[in-house]
Amino acid sequence: MIPIAKPYLTKDEAQSAYDTILTGWVTQGPRVEEFEKKFCEYTGAEYAVAVSNCTTALHLATIVSEIREGDEVICPSMSYVASSNCIKYTGAKPVFAEVESETYNIDLSHAEKLITDKTKAILIVHQIGMPADIDAFRTLCKKHNLKLIEDAACATGSAYKGKKIGSHSELVCFSFHPRKVITTGEGGMITTSNEAHYKRLKLLRQHGMSVSDRVRHQSDKIIFEDHTEIGYNYRMTDFQAAIGIRQLEKLDWIIGERRKIAVKYIEELKSIDCIRLPEEREGYFSNYQSFSIYLKDNSPISRNELMQKLLDDGIASRRGIMTSHRETAYKNEFKEIKLPVSEDASDRSIMIPLYIPMTGEEISRVITAIKKYLN
Ligand SMILES: *Cc1c(COP(=O)(O)O)cnc(C)c1O
Repeated sequence: MIPIAKPYLTKDEAQSAYDTILTGWVTQGPRVEEFEKKFCEYTGAEYAVAVSNCTTALHLATIVSEIREGDEVICPSMSYVASSNCIKYTGAKPVFAEVESETYNIDLSHAEKLITDKTKAILIVHQIGMPADIDAFRTLCKKHNLKLIEDAACATGSAYKGKKIGSHSELVCFSFHPRKVITTGEGGMITTSNEAHYKRLKLLRQHGMSVSDRVRHQSDKIIFEDHTEIGYNYRMTDFQAAIGIRQLEKLDWIIGERRKIAVKYIEELKSIDCIRLPEEREGYFSNYQSFSIYLKDNSPISRNELMQKLLDDGIASRRGIMTSHRETAYKNEFKEIKLPVSEDASDRSIMIPLYIPMTGEEISRVITAIKKYLN
């Protein structure tokens, strides 16, 4: 069976976690701090705050953006549901924008049309590793005095206009779930260029506590902490950070290997005229967190039939990126809205296997099977 994805974890990560366990420091200690520092060096971000996962990262990003009940936040419906759930947590309303059919990234002109007096922020998603047009959204947000949040869950190591994702705007949220390009088991990171955000994010992730465990532990004077606001427990453990440090060292290599597979897929599949392949425009660099293909009208079989046939051949695939407005949790509230581009892209696309290491034979099997069913 060829799986859809596989985390790339080796003895290095196991050793790193093992060594950390023996230090006696368990949660949010020196390894978390080191991981944050290295993440800043890697991305070029000014500050980084490690948290328990990307969903909690996004939640804290909405809080420091002062998003509250009654506000509206524009975001794509076509994304993993966490992108809109984090808006819901605050009591604000997600307002769903269309995506562009070629990149699946949020459509700038549609997003602009949705701006009202209540709009507080725009949340953009770098879909399956392909960056959205950050500068265009920064300009739009500036013009209308809105906050910008980047959901970069899938985009660790991707780049936009020559700079790594994480270095362009005030709030960028990453995921280290096993389905992403690097993993810490569960885990997330927020990068920011804003010192006030940085300080507040650090408080919010640990119950609003004014003194961290580490500072108290190292102090030769007694210190009592205060809880300065209602916070959360969104901490990352030191074991996870120890794994993350090793993963980060390999990230550029991992992306290089992923891109070789993507190039091979593109070369071999581009002659099939009933599909559309991912498009990487000038200035955009994808980590190929996933590889998606879109089945046009002239496809001899439906998307679901193709998925079943691939499965029968021992090849896993997944449906395209979901749309939140059609999920049961959102359906009632959003039954009036229609997002034809997002719905079509979601219903007609599939993700095919891409992981490291993927053998030449496995890659060939996927290509041969797709050609067999679509030619
Ligand atoms: C995976 C993902 C998330 C959630 O990340 P977790 O670390 O699992 O919380 C959020 N947004 C997008 C676009 C994702 O793909």
